[in-house]
Formats: sequence, structure tokens, C-alpha cells
Amino acid sequence: MGTLCCLLVLLAPLRTGDSRAAERLIMVREQIEARGVRNPDVLRAMREVPRHLYMPEAVRGMAYRDHPVPIGHGQTISQPYIVGLMTELLDVRKSHRVLEIGTGSGYQAAVLAPLVKQVYSMEIVAELAKSAQASLAAQGVGNVSVRHGDGYQGWPEEAPFDRIILTAAPPEVPQALVDQLKPGGKLVAPVGSSALGQELIVLEKRADGSIRRRSTIGVMFVPMVRK
Ligand code: SAH
Repeated sequence: MGTLCCLLVLLAPLRTGDSRAAERLIMVREQIEARGVRNPDVLRAMREVPRHLYMPEAVRGMAYRDHPVPIGHGQTISQPYIVGLMTELLDVRKSHRVLEIGTGSGYQAAVLAPLVKQVYSMEIVAELAKSAQASLAAQGVGNVSVRHGDGYQGWPEEAPFDRIILTAAPPEVPQALVDQLKPGGKLVAPVGSSALGQELIVLEKRADGSIRRRSTIGVMFVPMVRK
């Protein structure tokens, strides 16, 4: 009986067609929890979202490694730990409407999707917006809206947002995005123009509209480009 139970546990991921669930458990434990990300909802989402299916087939073998992976058009899908850290810093609730700038592969949006009400994600490269939309649809993710456009303008038609996350680095936080944040809202972004990297900042807009900003760790993101 003992053997049968073990066998069933091992076969469970295969049964659901998710052959790489075991790799994800290890990724979350060794790369994300081990570095201090604790939010159980974030950890659960990262155990469940099939990261490899948001990547081009040629690079899927690298999906669960401890580094970013190229996704074409000179862009990358962030290192798993950075996705976990930024999602935790964003401090989301199930009622939240979240704006993401830099859809890329769609993976960060897919991790946010089960944690919030709706994700609005903007991508400046048309082909990436299209393929991310296709990946999200293929996984049955129904609460992410992807729009091809320039994140410097934000998404005024759907503003204000409870939370905003940038996954490309601007030299400074764009004022349009601060304006589209609700009072009580938070924005997480890599900020800076140095070739050596940026700092990951958390900006809070208080109920009275005043802004508080703190920096966390040094990061290395692709620059947020202008149209
Ligand atoms: N969140 C992504 C990581 C994307 S990498 C993921 O999970 O895969 C950063 C992305 O930001 C790239 O796809 C890049 O094309 C996009 N980007 C750069 N400048 C932008 C801008 N001004 N507006 C919208 N997207 C932008």
C-alpha cells in the first residue's frame, strides 16, 4: 500500500498533463522561499502556474532555472525569485484591479491572476502582446486583459488602479502611472537608467494623496522604451 501511495503521488502531475509540477515545487522551495518570500498565496500561485508554457518551445528546458530566460524580441521573462518578490511586495487583495506594464511572456500576469480580481497588462511589442494573450487563453486564464500600447501613458480608460507593477525599467516613475494609482494604492517598479541595473522601489500613495517611496534591492531589468 505504501508503494502504491507513492506511485500515485508521483503520477499525479502526469495525470493532469503537467509533467513539470515537481520542478516547480523545487523552484519555489529553493529559489523563492529560501530567499525569504513568505506570502502563502504568492507561493501557491508560483507552484501552480506552468511557467514553461509561457516561453517559446526552444527555451522551455530552462524554465525552472534560477535566472531570466530570453523570450524573443530582445526581451526576457524575469528570474522566478524576482517574480515572487515583486508579487509579494505588491501586496494584493482578491478585490484588486492591477495594471502591469510590460506583459512580455504573460507569466507575471498569470501569477497575479489568481490573486486579484482583474489584471490589465500593457506591452509595447505587438507580437509579444499577441503571443502572451494566446498563452493566457490556452491556460484558461480569464481575468487578464492585454493591450498593445505604450506603458508611459498607462491605461486611462480603466484607471484608477489599486496596484501597478512595472516589469521594464523607466529612468523615473512615469507621472501618468502615479496619477492612475488610487489613494491607498501601491506601485512596484525597477527604477533607474544605469547600465549596471536599477533599484526595485515600492511607492505608496497615501489616502491624502501624498507619496512615500522606499527602495528594496538592486535588480537588472530591460529598459522601458518610449514609442
Ligand atoms: N512581465 C514579463 C517580463 C517582461 S520583460 C514576463 O512575465 O514575461 C519587459 C517587457 O516590457 C518587454 O516585453 C518589453 O517589450 C516591455 N516594454 C518595454 N517598454 C515598454 C513600454 N513603454 N510599454 C509597455 N511595455 C514595454
